[in-house]
Amino acid sequence: MTGRFAPSPTGRMHIGNIYSALLSWLSAKGQGGEWILRIEDLDPQRSRREYALQIEDDLRWLGLQWDRGGTADSADGVKYMQSCRTDIYAHYLNELESKGVTYPCYCTRADILAAVQAASGAPHESDGRIIYPGTCRPSTKGEAKMEQETIAQGEIQKKKSTSGNSSGKASTRLIVPDRTIHFIDRHYGPQAVNLATHCGDFVLRRADGAWAYQLAVVVDDALMGVTEVVRGRDLLLSSAQQIYLYELLGFPAPSFAHLPLLINEQGQRLSKRDRSLDMQHLRSLYTPEQLIGIIAHAAHLIDRPEPISLSELLSLFSWSSIPTADILVRP
Ligand code: GLU
Ligand code: ZN
Repeated sequence: MTGRFAPSPTGRMHIGNIYSALLSWLSAKGQGGEWILRIEDLDPQRSRREYALQIEDDLRWLGLQWDRGGTADSADGVKYMQSCRTDIYAHYLNELESKGVTYPCYCTRADILAAVQAASGAPHESDGRIIYPGTCRPSTKGEAKMEQETIAQGEIQKKKSTSGNSSGKASTRLIVPDRTIHFIDRHYGPQAVNLATHCGDFVLRRADGAWAYQLAVVVDDALMGVTEVVRGRDLLLSSAQQIYLYELLGFPAPSFAHLPLLINEQGQRLSKRDRSLDMQHLRSLYTPEQLIGIIAHAAHLIDRPEPISLSELLSLFSWSSIPTADILVRP
C-alpha cells in the first residue's frame, strides 16, 4: 500500500500539519507500506519553494522520512511538486473536455453570489460553501463539447455572462450530476454525499489558469499509486467530488481515512496564525520525541504526553484509539 502527505507550502508547518503527517505515516508504516511526500504548490501567489524546503527540514527533524517525493529530482523522473506537473493536468482536463463533461464559466465571484442570492435569498450554505448555480452550464453535453472546442480555437466570447470577469478568460467547470456518492471512510464510516447539493459544478481550472486542487489531487494520487488518503476531516465531503473524478477518469479510487481536527478553545480549527504552535516555535521548545509524544497523546494513542520514539509509537498505533470528535489543543 502507499500513503502520502500532501502539504501546501504556504508557510511554516504548524502542529496540525505535523499531526496529519504523523498519522498518515503511522497508518502507512503500520501496514508495511510506503509513504510519499507531494508538495501541493498549485497556488502560485501563496506557494514558495523555501517553504517546501522548510517542510522537508521539519519532517526530517521529526524523523518522518518519505520513501518517494519531495522537492528533489527523483531517479524515476516523476515530479512530486504540483507546479511541475501542469502538462499532466492539462492532459487529463483534455480527456474530460473530450467527454463533453466540462464547460467554460465566465462568472466572477460577485456574479455567482448575486445569482445564488436571487435564486434563494440566501448567500450560501450555513457552513459558508457557495454552490455554483449553473449559470454557464450548457443544456446538452454536445453543447458543452462545442463550447470547449470554441475556446480551443481561441474564439473566446463573453457570451454567457452579463458582467463577466475583467480578464475575459473562462474557468473550466465539471458538470456534476444530481447523484449521491456513497463511500466508507475508514474512520468516520459510511458517507453519502449528493454532488449537486454539496458542491454543484466545480472548477477544474481557474480563470487565471491555475489548476484546481480537486483535479490535481485525483490525478496525482492516481498516478503516484496512492492507495490510502489520510487527512483532516475538513476534506471528508470533498472525497465525493474526488471519487466522481476517479470514476470519470477510469482510475480506481484510494481508501479514505479522515482525522478529527485540532481545534482551539473557541472551537476553531488551529491555523497558521497561531504562531505559538508553528514549527519554528515548537522546535525551540521540544525535542522531536517530546513533540511526537504530545501529538500522540492528543490523538489518544498514548496515555500521557511523554517523549516517545517513532518506532515505539508505531507498535502502539491503532485507528480505533483515535477519537472522532475534534481535539482541543492548548498552546
Ligand atoms: N494540500 C492540502 C492541504 O495542505 C491537503 C490535501 C489532501 O491531503 O488531499 O490542506
Ligand atoms: Zn459561470
